[in-house]
Amino acid sequence: MVNPDPLLRVEDLKVRFYTLRGVVHALERVRFTLNRQETLGLAGETGCGKSVTARSVLRLIDPPGKIISGRILFEGRDLLTLDEATMRTIRGSQISMIMQEPKMSLNPVIRVGDQIAETLLIHERSLNRRTARARAVDMLAQLGIPDPARVARRYPHELSGGMAQRVMIAMMLVTRPKLLIADEPTSALDVTIQAQILELMKKLVREIETSVLMITHDLGVMAETCDRVAVMYAGEMVETGPVRSVLKNPRHPYTQGLLQTVPDKANPEHPLYSIRGNVPSLLQPPSGCRFAPRCEYAMQRCHNELPPYYHLEGDHQCACFLHAEKAEVIRP
Ligand code: SF4
Repeated sequence: MVNPDPLLRVEDLKVRFYTLRGVVHALERVRFTLNRQETLGLAGETGCGKSVTARSVLRLIDPPGKIISGRILFEGRDLLTLDEATMRTIRGSQISMIMQEPKMSLNPVIRVGDQIAETLLIHERSLNRRTARARAVDMLAQLGIPDPARVARRYPHELSGGMAQRVMIAMMLVTRPKLLIADEPTSALDVTIQAQILELMKKLVREIETSVLMITHDLGVMAETCDRVAVMYAGEMVETGPVRSVLKNPRHPYTQGLLQTVPDKANPEHPLYSIRGNVPSLLQPPSGCRFAPRCEYAMQRCHNELPPYYHLEGDHQCACFLHAEKAEVIRP
């Protein structure tokens, strides 16, 4: 059961990258709320800004990137106003992040059990090494790893992809963070392992009452794991709402197109749909609605004005002028 109490609130986040080719307008007015014990999915095509959004929450945007404006309120505190030393204490202990490629994130020359124990020791200074190791083995057991004590003594290269991702999840959840950011956590794994890992993650997240920001381009994964979803297009948030409402009754033309691109398993001969045109360059994004050059409903105003967010039914919101007559504008 989701507790409607905001843990994370991102307000009008704007991120730019100052490259030799010009200024990349990577994120523009990104806004969403993640409640406690809730899983929010960030959806959209590759390059739409999902990972930049996640890294911004951890304040991990390196030069030439820069967070220009906005607020990232975590338990009411704006992370963008904290000094780096305070941010370091928050990363890992209160907000953890699981990456796509676990083997790239694990240290190749340290046994995996020691790596998990080390994470604990950094964040719980009163622990001794022996207790930390025992808790690392416990965590591996909770992730359904057979003979966890033996696996804890292995090096990352001795593990399969699925096993390495379980180790990574153990490492990120062992400190019982309040927020877990999972960036395409299973996209490098085959489908059966993917389902197992997602199931284990869901179980653990429920047990330790962690909120999850799940980044995925896989709408099937989203439907299975998320309570709410936020759809991004070309660095902007275009639609948010409860997962069932958005997936069953998408209200933004981009979300509608995105859902049609999912292959129909019941009808494999059916030709695949693709959204016409290309994703715009963020060096010179279109003025007005960024989806306008590809949108079959585009009106003149779409090319000149930025559509505001409209409040649809329930908690469903959408940035599209098609709702201007029937829905109320949400004020920032
Ligand atoms: Fe299409 Fe206009 Fe809506 Fe943008 S605002 S999605 S261009 S109808």
